[in-house]
Amino acid sequence: MAAEHVPATPDNFSVWFAYSMGVPSDLQRAIDILIGNKRKFDATINRDLFSTYVAAPDGSAAALASQQLHAVMDAAQVFLATAIADNHAQMRAIHHVADQGQAGSDPKLLIQQLMSELAKAASRAAKLEAGFAERTQELDSIRETLSKSEERARTDTLTGLPNRRALDEFFRKAQIAAMEQGEPLSLLMLDIDHFKSFNDTFGHGVGDQVLRLMAQVLRDKVREIDLPARYGGEELIAVLPGADLAVATAIAERIRCSIAECQITRRSTGEILPSITVSIGASQFQPGEAMNDLVERCDRALYLAKRSGRNRVVAESELDREIAAV
Ligand code: GH3
Ligand code: MG
Ligand code: MG
Repeated sequence: MAAEHVPATPDNFSVWFAYSMGVPSDLQRAIDILIGNKRKFDATINRDLFSTYVAAPDGSAAALASQQLHAVMDAAQVFLATAIADNHAQMRAIHHVADQGQAGSDPKLLIQQLMSELAKAASRAAKLEAGFAERTQELDSIRETLSKSEERARTDTLTGLPNRRALDEFFRKAQIAAMEQGEPLSLLMLDIDHFKSFNDTFGHGVGDQVLRLMAQVLRDKVREIDLPARYGGEELIAVLPGADLAVATAIAERIRCSIAECQITRRSTGEILPSITVSIGASQFQPGEAMNDLVERCDRALYLAKRSGRNRVVAESELDREIAAV
């Protein structure tokens, strides 16, 4: 921490302690890459590292599942102790029968005793098996609860698209993969044109319907490997692994055209609404940079698209041209 000039705060300590322990490994790789790229550990990076890799995830479903898991583990412990005790009882009974055999007891009686021990063992095994099946079922249901709540925590309720949390997680992995494989990685930001006046004219409910339609088009037009997400309000985003700025711009252009061509019908009345357009910004990841920087450039490209008349795609490369022209 001293070498990287990281202030000695409790949050930073927990980040660097986790780094030194190598857990999670994603954190270790991210810090190594940042060091390798000679990145300054400023307040933003330090906060991002803490919130992304170290801060305890909230969520009552996770806490509940954790309680349930403890209960199952307690039950499993009792279950194992019972199985071991049963096994000992069975061994003692068999030894007892064997001793009696050596002492010359009536063979008929010995067989009867053995049969009775066998019956007891079989009934104990059946009980254990039933208990085991019950525990397995409980575990399955906990697993299901957890994966459903994880899915919910990553999904935007209005559009069904992945949300900011899912975006952050996806980007974290995509950024490491891009740096390791030396492949490009790009970002698109979409913003609906004049959406406020659309809402004012047709109502928020119709606006929501439009937003869902935009989400659907975005989902359909990006590739299988990409991540479309709702960034906030009426802004959607897409992370495009393996795509350079030219590829990203081509994908953006397809999305833009497809949205402009959509015919939107008001569900309640069947009335055909004026067409909707979007402006899109595109930027390409520079190895080692923080996601915020990439988003910021994408946002600037998006607003250049707005200023240049809307319903268009602007790549970040055009920002330099604009600056040069000033
Ligand atoms: P511009 O072309 O410059 O983007 O104009 P705009 O009116 O779209 O831009 P502005 O950012 O001023 O307004 C965004 C509007 O998006 C404001 C808000 O009413 C609307 N909006 C944001 N989130 C939602 C949502 O979840 N549902 C609906 N229906 N509208 C939303
Ligand atoms: Mg906006
Ligand atoms: Mg807008």
